[in-house]
Amino acid sequence: VLIVPKTETEALDHRADFPAIPAGWAYLDTAATAQKPQAVIDAITRGYDTTYATVHRGVYQRSADMTLAFEAARRRVAAFLNAGSENEIVFVRGATEGINLVAQCWAGTQLKAGDRILLSQLEHHSNIVPWQMVAERLGVAIDVIPLTPDHKIDLDAMGAMITPAHKLVALAHVSNVLGSLLDARRAADIAHSVGARLLLDGCQAVPRIAVDVAALDCDFYVFSGHKLYGPTGIGVLWARPELLDAMPPYQGGGSMIDKVSFAKTTYAPPPGRFEAGTPHIVGVLGLHAAIDYVESIGLDRIHAHETALVTLTREALSQINSLTLFGPEDSAGIVSFSIQGVHPHDIGTILDEAGVAVRAGHHCAQPLMETLGVDATARASFGVYNTADDVAALVRGIERVTRIFG
Ligand code: PMP
Repeated sequence: VLIVPKTETEALDHRADFPAIPAGWAYLDTAATAQKPQAVIDAITRGYDTTYATVHRGVYQRSADMTLAFEAARRRVAAFLNAGSENEIVFVRGATEGINLVAQCWAGTQLKAGDRILLSQLEHHSNIVPWQMVAERLGVAIDVIPLTPDHKIDLDAMGAMITPAHKLVALAHVSNVLGSLLDARRAADIAHSVGARLLLDGCQAVPRIAVDVAALDCDFYVFSGHKLYGPTGIGVLWARPELLDAMPPYQGGGSMIDKVSFAKTTYAPPPGRFEAGTPHIVGVLGLHAAIDYVESIGLDRIHAHETALVTLTREALSQINSLTLFGPEDSAGIVSFSIQGVHPHDIGTILDEAGVAVRAGHHCAQPLMETLGVDATARASFGVYNTADDVAALVRGIERVTRIFG
């Protein structure tokens, strides 16, 4: 039996903050969606049972108060990302909608036939398909940056392949399958050297590392609230103000207008221009609480904690001969693996019987699976509530898998 040593990982144990994680359950699927701390649940409950009203329209006090809370959340997000102003923060449904918005409103209006877009081999489908949709329409080509042998985006290759025809580079800040952390500042410098814009898909980064869009020097940044311990249905697009100013609206409707007549309609300035319709008001309040929650712990501590858990996991799993580990040693909070002769779904099912929840599948990254030479992987991903006990449960479960499959 493999022994998982208890280390300084025990120093961070926020399990008690999460009412939906019962004792004895090892929840290792935070990369899919994070469990919610009581503080976020309370913010959502309060939003509906005490303070609920619409925003931006009501003349009565309750609505004015809710508008203040809603806009305070926007300022909170701006501070969280170190954006220049809250007007650079667009609330969207999630990273998927944020990327589609940039693809349609920025790429769809700025790119022309013959231009090129640069993606990487490890992207999530939501950072591939929206670009393909716009590229097909415009006659734009897509190129793909390969990975290094330890499964990071190969920035040397990016430097060698980028040309002035590339107008946009869109990359995962942290890979949802491998945990590979991008040197985003270097990617921005390479992109800008040819005048291209850089979009970062920050879904897996914001819950794990401190993000500063000014220091990264990127042009667009997107993330989803639900992976940051917040609610589903709410996410963020940050963009440089001059880019937002030049973008036409994404959807038409209420709230995004300046003046409407049948002769001509004019639009509100950003971010309102991109937020048609009644927003996910309480979702925004929940996101605010989620940011307060992670910052009360500290992203540097969260990152150190998850790195210690990754190291424990990789050390223990590397002792199992039939098991292949993917991704870099210094992965941010995520470990993907396969076991010879066992389908990842069987791994997931047997682990579930042992009280360990992992993800099995292609993780919405089929081109990456092809590169790894597998149809699917099993993936363990960590959050603030995980401890060395969860790693031990995972390792015991995998030993059981290898016994069952001989
Ligand atoms: N990008 C990455 C790296 C992700 O992990 C995910 C979610 N799995 C997404 C994009 C899409 O996020 P959402 O489904 O919340 O829009």
